[in-house]
Amino acid sequence: MHPRGRFVFVCAIMLLAPWTFAHAEGQPDQQYCSLLPALEADGNRANASIAWQVGLGPRLPGSNASSALLDGFEENHSAWSFSRDTHTYAGGTLTNLVAVYPPNTDLATTEALGLGAHYDTREFADFEANATNASRPVPGANDGGSGVGAVGELMRIIPSMDLDHAVVVVLFDAEDQGTYTDKESWAEGSRRWADNLTEQEVSHLKAFILLDMIGDASLDLANISSNNQTLNNAIAPLAQALGLIEGREACSGVQMRDIYQPGTTLDIMDDHVRLNDVGVPAIDIIDHRYGPNATGFANSYWHTLEDTPDKVNAEALETVMHLVELGLRSGAWMDAVEVEVTSTPDDTSDKDPEPILTEPRTFAGPLGLLVLGWISVLGLAACSMLSILALRKLRPASAAKTWSWDEA
Ligand SMILES: [Zn+2]
Repeated sequence: MHPRGRFVFVCAIMLLAPWTFAHAEGQPDQQYCSLLPALEADGNRANASIAWQVGLGPRLPGSNASSALLDGFEENHSAWSFSRDTHTYAGGTLTNLVAVYPPNTDLATTEALGLGAHYDTREFADFEANATNASRPVPGANDGGSGVGAVGELMRIIPSMDLDHAVVVVLFDAEDQGTYTDKESWAEGSRRWADNLTEQEVSHLKAFILLDMIGDASLDLANISSNNQTLNNAIAPLAQALGLIEGREACSGVQMRDIYQPGTTLDIMDDHVRLNDVGVPAIDIIDHRYGPNATGFANSYWHTLEDTPDKVNAEALETVMHLVELGLRSGAWMDAVEVEVTSTPDDTSDKDPEPILTEPRTFAGPLGLLVLGWISVLGLAACSMLSILALRKLRPASAAKTWSWDEA
């Protein structure tokens, strides 16, 4: 390379590199930003569903309240077609409700995305300190009600989204009746539904999003290690665009809330594990700290009589629904697993729960811009020095005192 060309090239790299880096790592995805005005999932509608569900009474497997919930849910979503998947359970019957859009979609031959929530509520509020209270059923506003309310609201708007794939919704029974010392005793409805999927259905069900406990007014969404990690990777860019990650620039600028916490890892047993077990990439979006003083599942309203509609909030529900809706409208959920299929065909699910802090540092924000500004000033100064040296070196020993770039 000609000496002058090399000099210009080095200067350009020095000046542009930090800004290029900032742009690549700090900015929200512009495709997602362009879709934000289209988001329409309504937190108040989901919240109203929770009040209705709790009003039915505890939704124990096989109960009248459970039947009433499923009947009402079907009536409210006439654009979808429904089927009921029943199994014997603890001497009675458990029922999963399955809905598809477009109606009568054959899941064995049509690509679909799954959306789900458990609708049963726990029979005993065994995190109550008082023994009498601990023997009573959980009202299940957040634990049961919030996921169903959100899924129902998303079902209302999905027909107008004009998606290029089908959607299957499953309301799972008997998620929440397990014993704490036996991990396998939870998520019984989803276990049965997943185990009965045919090979063709598994191969066409590209991704599954589970919503559980998403109505807490102080929303904390951790990074769930039992999630399929490839599908899980799609969450952070969507959350960033919506302004849910502290320290990362949102579409609306630098205003951010600390809601999705990629650096906080948590292993959760929930219905998504059953899907991952049979080879359907599945993630759980869940708030494990329910209530203002909760530390994990301790000191929270979880599995207590306090899990009532006044503890959930339309804004929280809407935040999570918009995250899911943005992934639907942009194709992010489906695209995430398509990449997975072509790169590592045999990789399925809940493997190493580790790659959490691999997120690149961002230089966005006022401090980052200040640093970048100084780097550029120093780069400019260095370039000036280099140019002086270059001019001295390139000047022919016997040349006249005046010369220009054209001569160099
Ligand atoms: Zn529960």
